[in-house]
Amino acid sequence: MAANWNKEDAVPVVDSLLNIYPDVDLIFAHNDRMAIGASEVARRHGRGDITIIGIDAAPNIGIKAVADSVIDATFLYPTEGHRLIQTALKILKGKPYEREVILPVSSAVDLSNADILLLQNETLNEETGKMRLLKRRIDDYWAQHSSQTSLFYASIAIIILLFGVFFLLLRAFWQHRRHQAMLMDQNRLLEEERDKQKMLNEKLEEATQSKLMFFTNVSHDLRTPLTLIAEPVAQLAEADNLTRQQATLIKIADKNVRILRRLINQILDFRKYENGKLDLKLSEVDFGKAIEEWMESFRAVARKRDIRLALDAPDGESVKMALDSEKIERVFFNLVSNAFKYTPDNGTITVAYHIDGDMLSLSVADTGEGISERDLGNIFDRFFQVDRVHPKGSGIGLSLAKAFVELHGGSISVESEVNKGSVFTVKLPVIHVSEVASEVEPVNSGADVEAELGSIESAFEMEAEKPVVLVIDDNRDIQKLVGELLAADYNVVVASNGAEGVKRAVKYVPDLVICDVMMPVMDGLECCRRLKEEVSTSHIPVLMLTACSMDEQRVQGYESGADGYLAKPFSAKVLLSRCSSLIANRKRIKELWQSAVNAVAEKQREAVKEEKQKADKPVASDIDNQFYNRFIEIFMAEIGNSELTVDSLASKMGLERTQFYRKIKALTNYSPVELMRNLRLKQARVLVTTTDKTISEIGYDMGFSTPAYFTKCYREAFGETPTETRTKLGSR
Ligand code: ADP
Repeated sequence: MAANWNKEDAVPVVDSLLNIYPDVDLIFAHNDRMAIGASEVARRHGRGDITIIGIDAAPNIGIKAVADSVIDATFLYPTEGHRLIQTALKILKGKPYEREVILPVSSAVDLSNADILLLQNETLNEETGKMRLLKRRIDDYWAQHSSQTSLFYASIAIIILLFGVFFLLLRAFWQHRRHQAMLMDQNRLLEEERDKQKMLNEKLEEATQSKLMFFTNVSHDLRTPLTLIAEPVAQLAEADNLTRQQATLIKIADKNVRILRRLINQILDFRKYENGKLDLKLSEVDFGKAIEEWMESFRAVARKRDIRLALDAPDGESVKMALDSEKIERVFFNLVSNAFKYTPDNGTITVAYHIDGDMLSLSVADTGEGISERDLGNIFDRFFQVDRVHPKGSGIGLSLAKAFVELHGGSISVESEVNKGSVFTVKLPVIHVSEVASEVEPVNSGADVEAELGSIESAFEMEAEKPVVLVIDDNRDIQKLVGELLAADYNVVVASNGAEGVKRAVKYVPDLVICDVMMPVMDGLECCRRLKEEVSTSHIPVLMLTACSMDEQRVQGYESGADGYLAKPFSAKVLLSRCSSLIANRKRIKELWQSAVNAVAEKQREAVKEEKQKADKPVASDIDNQFYNRFIEIFMAEIGNSELTVDSLASKMGLERTQFYRKIKALTNYSPVELMRNLRLKQARVLVTTTDKTISEIGYDMGFSTPAYFTKCYREAFGETPTETRTKLGSR
């Protein structure tokens, strides 16, 4: 009968069964719970004798009931249901399966083994408990271990991080220290530099002071003798019985005496100003009239140089104000002459003035070379010059102008742009005094302006038979002076810088070049190097002129190919003797070349025998050798060409006809036509004496248009006809 596998349901079932079958001897319940229920019912029915058997042998239920004698036995029930299910599934899926599954035999538990089983179970439970405890502990340890491992890795990561941070901090610290040390070093250096600069400034100031003092003293001493020179020179310059050369030399002297005189006056005034001893002599002046008068002195120079000199004056009333007119005239003179000095021919110079409130504004604007921003700040410093190498003045003019303007309570300023021009502006307060200026002569006359800014006219005439000397110097007065000193013996050509010098040398192929070392555009060393590299000019001797006689410069000069050196100032005698010795040297080399031409013919005689010929190299510069060898090569290739002209030879040599002519003449003393005929005849003579060719054949081979002309030239050159040469040779 079914009883739902539990005790409570089994009780009524067993009860009813016992009622129906009171003499049952054994009850077999399908599990221990139902067996226990059945035992209870059997006892109640007074049937403690019924053997009751259960199944499952669960320790706390079945086995305990056996031990307590509630039931008589129970069976361990190894159902092994999973094996049945596995077999069933295999059958369903059609997989191979074991046909027989032997289940383990169930074993019975009764009073005889129940206690042991219970004990075993208890022990098992205890062991299981211990195992569980152990497992828990192990789990705990694992958990602890893994958290410790994580902690360990985290610690390592933190340590590495800390190390990293520490390293970075350390590095930053060292860098900071290094930086600081560097800054301190720099600071120290800067301080040292500043101290040095300060010391230098002080020294410079001292030097300037002593320079000024020295200049002042010297200027005082110079003024009297200079006046004594100036007067006679000025009078001499007026004389009308001078030769052209004397007139030019006197003009050079007059011009430079005036420049010196003005410089000396400027220095003395500057010194007075610095010592506070320069007074203002104010008087009421008609400014407009004064300006017009002052400008007049510049008109002639402006005309000569095609410079537009404009005056931009306010219309209407004349401007009357108190000025020290002599000083303001000198300011004006300085500004306008600077404008002339630094403005090229065909430029424009504009003088403008107007009243602006209680100030008079006077400006001088030019379209000249301008002043760079770097130099603008120093322009009013004493002795400052933008171009110290090629100064056009002394550098004192503007500082004195500033001093004069400031004495009047005014100011002076400049605006300038390189290659566009400059504008100098003077502002003077308009004040009045009762004293009216008497008519004063302008301090600077047209002659002064002319002397300082104009150039001395003197064209050198060319005479055919004189040697040509090219004088290259940026100072026009030196050009003139050297030119005049040489004019008696030489034709003089001049150039103002190296680049112009090279051009002129190529054009004129002079016999000598005299060249300054320091020049704008292209200096003397470079110019000399170019001359020595250029085929048409390489043979020309170069004499270098320089203001200093430093050995180093001399070496540089010789390295660039200069043939001689002359330190300025030089005497006319020395200059002339150096020139003539250099030209004589050149002549000797020329003679050497001349004999070299003959040597070439000699060589050819040998060369014909060996069926080979090459030109000889005489002693001269490599460029000249190369030039001559190339000439011989080109000419020999065309020797039979009777149409060969000097023009075509020159163009093959890459030179113009005149350059070619001068070069050949300078090297060999023959004109190209003479040289060609000479070489042809000498070659012809070689052929006459060494070959069996007929005379007319040789004549044609050597480029003579007819045999008769060949024979004529041959006789002129050798004093016999080609046939006579042969007969003489045959009879030998
Ligand atoms: P200097 O007597 O040499 O002319 P200044 O004191 O008058 O001396 O001028 C100082 C420098 O200022 C000159 O060397 C020149 O380089 C520059 N300078 C003056 N005026 C001009 C100008 N109008 N244009 C360009 N440069 C000028």
